[in-house]
Amino acid sequence: MSDANITDITVIGGGPTGLYAAFYAGLRGISCRIVDALPQLGGQLMALYPEKYIFDVGGLPKILAKDLANNMIEQGTQFGPEVVLGAEVQEMVPEDGHFRLVTPRGEFLTRTVCVTAGKGALNPRVLECPGWDDHYRDGGGAHTHVRQIEDFRGRRVLIVGGGDSAVDWVLGLRGVARSVTLIHRRPEFRAHKSSVLEMQALAEKGEVQILTPYEVRHMEGVNGCVARVTVFNNETNEDTHVEADAVIALLGFKPDLGPIARWGLALEKNTIRVNGVMETSVPGVYAAGDVVHYEGKLELISCGYGEAAIAVNNAVRYLNPKARLAPGHSTNLKIFKQDD
Ligand SMILES: Cc1cc2nc3c(=O)[nH]c(=O)nc-3n(C[C@H](O)[C@H](O)[C@H](O)COP(=O)(O)OP(=O)(O)OC[C@H]3O[C@@H](n4cnc5c(N)ncnc54)[C@H](O)[C@@H]3O)c2cc1C
Repeated sequence: MSDANITDITVIGGGPTGLYAAFYAGLRGISCRIVDALPQLGGQLMALYPEKYIFDVGGLPKILAKDLANNMIEQGTQFGPEVVLGAEVQEMVPEDGHFRLVTPRGEFLTRTVCVTAGKGALNPRVLECPGWDDHYRDGGGAHTHVRQIEDFRGRRVLIVGGGDSAVDWVLGLRGVARSVTLIHRRPEFRAHKSSVLEMQALAEKGEVQILTPYEVRHMEGVNGCVARVTVFNNETNEDTHVEADAVIALLGFKPDLGPIARWGLALEKNTIRVNGVMETSVPGVYAAGDVVHYEGKLELISCGYGEAAIAVNNAVRYLNPKARLAPGHSTNLKIFKQDD
């Protein structure tokens, strides 16, 4: 394969950290490819909580996750990186002076790698009950996250879970859905106290229904869409039926590095160990964001941004040891048509 087919850097994972890495690659003038297993860019922000507000990104006092993701996509793709979606990177094979990345959508060659794979492939926990598999598809009524509030307008929604997402969506869908019922297998919730109190006050007024300690026994459908759910009290084993045309299981997701764990990178606590310049144990392979571990690591969007900048600028140095490490200030860069 000719040199022209080898990209300077491949960013594995198109979440906020990967998009920021792609931005820095463009700013430094190196060729870049973003590969993501999901069919869309944006990582957890788009896949898990697009309609939630984020309050702790510098300079943005309050922004919807999907809006931040769209801004990140605009910024991260402005220099024209190749974007390959729906392609989980399964293997990373070191070859002579480059790496070969194997995905179901083909193989890609790259001189350096920046792994920004978050929690790995985002596999939400699903309900393990008869009827779930039959309805967990477009139009089937079984969901693992809320993509758009409007999808639930006028519907009878059953939410399963006891954490922040479950309680937040009881509050978020009230008034939009025709009815909202929450079931949780324990009487206590793991969500923010003020949200739980707000939800319980609504339940007392009859605006939402809370059933604890309940679990789903099975789901039945009409014309391919869920219509009735049998739930049981896990103390008395008594069954109750909930009429519902949407079931949203908000049970978190399994942190699983998946294939990344087999790439020969040193791992720690199910994440990739990096040094102070965000380099992994394999020279030329950098990592940033939720996927990394170092002392004091925080799993926050803002930390991922800083790590991505460090990773990519050091990758530039790896590619060309004479290159400057510091990118310069964007306020002065010609690439943005600014003068010194
Ligand atoms: C409900 C919720 C609310 C949150 N609220 C906040 C908040 O208010 N403030 C804050 O700072 N943080 C918040 N976070 C955390 C924040 O979302 C993460 O820190 C951030 O998304 C990490 O970004 P990332 O780019 O490192 O990883 P991710 O966003 O996880 O993106 C990783 C991407 O890599 C892809 N990928 C994984 N493995 C592969 C592979 N082998 N091949 C190809 N692609 C792969 C995945 O598909 C994914 O798209 C919240 C998280 C959740 C779940």
